[in-house]
Amino acid sequence: MKKTQYTIATLSSHSALQILKGAKDEGFNTLLIVTPEREAFYRTFPFIDEFMTVSKFSDFPSIEKQLIEKNVILIPHGSFVAYLGTQKNKTMKVSYYGNKKVLDWEEDRLKQREWLEHANILMPQQFKDVDSINYPVIVKSYGAAGGSGYFYAKNKRDYNSKISQMGSKQFVIQEYVIGVPLYIHYFYSPLTKKLEIMSIDRRYETNVDSLGRIPLAGQEGLEINPSYVVVGNSPLVLREAMLVEAYNMGLRVIESSQKLMDGRGLFGAFCLETVISEKQKFYTIEISCRIVAGTNLFTHGSAYSWLYYNEPMSTGRRIAREIKHAVEQKKLKMILD
Ligand code: ATP
Repeated sequence: MKKTQYTIATLSSHSALQILKGAKDEGFNTLLIVTPEREAFYRTFPFIDEFMTVSKFSDFPSIEKQLIEKNVILIPHGSFVAYLGTQKNKTMKVSYYGNKKVLDWEEDRLKQREWLEHANILMPQQFKDVDSINYPVIVKSYGAAGGSGYFYAKNKRDYNSKISQMGSKQFVIQEYVIGVPLYIHYFYSPLTKKLEIMSIDRRYETNVDSLGRIPLAGQEGLEINPSYVVVGNSPLVLREAMLVEAYNMGLRVIESSQKLMDGRGLFGAFCLETVISEKQKFYTIEISCRIVAGTNLFTHGSAYSWLYYNEPMSTGRRIAREIKHAVEQKKLKMILD
């Protein structure tokens, strides 16, 4: 079967443009599952061959049969879990790029910690009860997206006054790591057994990243509290001396996933969300087991992908290339669920 007999599809959000542009560049047919209010915008791009409309993303299962008939390979991105939930992702029957077993390990914060600890990844300390806290801390509500609903507490009094205003009853209390938030985008190929760092970004968050624009004296008395809502991403290259550890962290995560899960483990695009401390240690706050929005900076490739490929290579295109190679080598089963 040729690659042109497959159609690569995704939902019209998050990193859909990058994914479908990459798929077209690799010679696939492309399809976008779109909601009516987004269609006009997405139709302005020349690399989307076909559109299928759903009134809302959660109606996705109603078109599944048609997708299967069209020989679709679905590429999940951040909106898949947000709009469909883990359960709908797991029960989907259309070909899905990735290993669905990873979803359980990613979704459950305790399991995720177990996995990362197994991989010898340094994480911020987590506190079980208020009395054992070493300040400062960041308090994170469950189910938050893009850092909303988080607060910073510098001591117990600060914590007590803020916790009473917090809406959510489910939250974690974490050591606050003072440093640079750095998101490392990896790609692991089970076909070549090679891991690559595709690109790196840092998030720009309001208002925490803008506090430095007002001198401390000017902030006094204003009671400004840092918040962590992401408004954008900017590219970043890491000091080369630190790249090796960034790479080795990715390797350890892959190796652990193969041991803890089903042998296949995690593959394809993933991201370690880290904060680098004063002592240049990477503290990992989260793992995302698919393409992340920060890769959208690099539709034409990054400083790193250029070194590997000598041609424009976004993460979206890298995914399509992997599928193309799997088709050619008759190994599609290895990378689809
Ligand atoms: P997303 O799901 O979009 O990745 P999220 O809601 O899960 O976001 P996190 O990635 O956990 O949020 O954190 C959002 C921001 O909060 C980070 O980018 C960072 O600025 C800050 N942050 C989170 N945990 C810590 C920590 N332990 N120390 C310092 N800052 C932190």
